[in-house]
Amino acid sequence: MPERLMSTLSTESMWTDDKLVLASSNQGKLREFSKLFSDFGTTVIPQSDLHVESPEETGLSFIENALLKARHASAITELPALADDSGLVIPALDGAPGLYSARFAGGNASDQENLTLLLDRMKDLTGVHRRGHYICALALVRHAADPDPIVVIGRWHGQIIDTPRGERGFGYDPIFLPDGLRQTAAELDSETKNQQSHRGLAVIELRSLLS
Ligand code: IMP
Repeated sequence: MPERLMSTLSTESMWTDDKLVLASSNQGKLREFSKLFSDFGTTVIPQSDLHVESPEETGLSFIENALLKARHASAITELPALADDSGLVIPALDGAPGLYSARFAGGNASDQENLTLLLDRMKDLTGVHRRGHYICALALVRHAADPDPIVVIGRWHGQIIDTPRGERGFGYDPIFLPDGLRQTAAELDSETKNQQSHRGLAVIELRSLLS
C-alpha cells in the first residue's frame, strides 16, 4: 500500500505531545481545552502559570490574532501552544464590533456598555441587516516558528434583537438570537450553548483534525 494511504488509514492520533501551553488564563477555556486534550494524554498549562504575559493583539483578523498569541506563548515556553480569539461580527457594520468586541465601548467597558452601544449603532437597521455571527479562531503551533499550524474557525449565525433577554452567558448573548432557536444565547443552558456555539464548533473541528 502506498505510504500516503497508509498514514491516512492509521489509527494513531497525529497529536502526541504530552504538554501544551494555553495562551489564555480564562478558567472556562482551560477546563474545556483540558477536557479535549486529556483524550490525547496531553496536559494543558495556562500561560499565566509559566509567567507568560499576553502580547499586543496587532492582527487584522481573528486568525492572525490567535496565531500571534500561540506563537508568542510557544516562543517563551518552548512548548506547543494553543490560542483562541473570538468576537461578534455584524456584516452591516463592516464587521464591527469584530476584533474590538471586548472593548467596543472603550478600554474598561462592561458587557452591558458594549451591548448598549451595539444596539444604538443598529437602531435603524432591519431584516437582513440585523444578521450577525460569533466567530472563534483556534490556532495550534507545535513550535514558535511552525510553518504549518493547525487553524480552525467556528461560526455561530443569528440575528441581533433590539431588546435584551436572558441572564446567562456573557458579552452580547442577551441580544443574540441563534438561527433556528427561539431563545437568545443568554437564555440557553450552558451545555446547549457549548454544543452549538462558535467555540463548540471550532473545538469539534480541532478534535477531528487531531484524531
Ligand atoms: P474572548 O476572545 O473570549 O476574550 O472574547 C472576546 C469578546 O468577544 C468577548 O469579550 C465578548 O464581547 C465577545 N464574545 C466572544 N464569544 C462570546 C460568546 O460566546 N458570547 C458573548 N460574547 C462573546
